[in-house]
Amino acid sequence: MSAGELVPDKTTQTVLRERLSEDDTERGFILDGYPRTLEQAKALTDFVKIDVIINLVVSKWIIIERLSSRRICKNCGEVYNVRFLKPRMEGVCDKCGGELHQRVDDTVEVIEERLRVYEKQTQPLLAYYTGRVPFVEFKCEDINTPPEVAVEEILKKLKNLEAR
Ligand SMILES: [Zn+2]
Repeated sequence: MSAGELVPDKTTQTVLRERLSEDDTERGFILDGYPRTLEQAKALTDFVKIDVIINLVVSKWIIIERLSSRRICKNCGEVYNVRFLKPRMEGVCDKCGGELHQRVDDTVEVIEERLRVYEKQTQPLLAYYTGRVPFVEFKCEDINTPPEVAVEEILKKLKNLEAR
């Protein structure tokens, strides 16, 4: 992870297969950030049916800004953001008083490398799913877009898709 690379396919596939065989997935589930590669997508079709793809399109500078301002509590793992979700006291966790730090993979250089890896892997993935699975897209070009706005628009688009 510190080199900006992702967890190997076999590991995630095994974990996913086990998780999706549990009872609580019967009514549906969301895979967040998976599959990321063409190989993963193809392997996924063997044991699961994907109903819709939600594609979040976020400007590169926004991703860099948000991730590089993220801070995590060394003690309890609580996530903060020096721009959007500040702790009451700088560098100190509100919940447990622990010290806040930046993850080794949240620096600008590593984020840029992660984005390069992501784009290279995702493009063939989008091509693979085009025509196979319906898409819902949400574009974020404003760093101050609150999560609720994104959720609302995505839900609206999902409902439209259902009505078709
Ligand atoms: Zn804490």
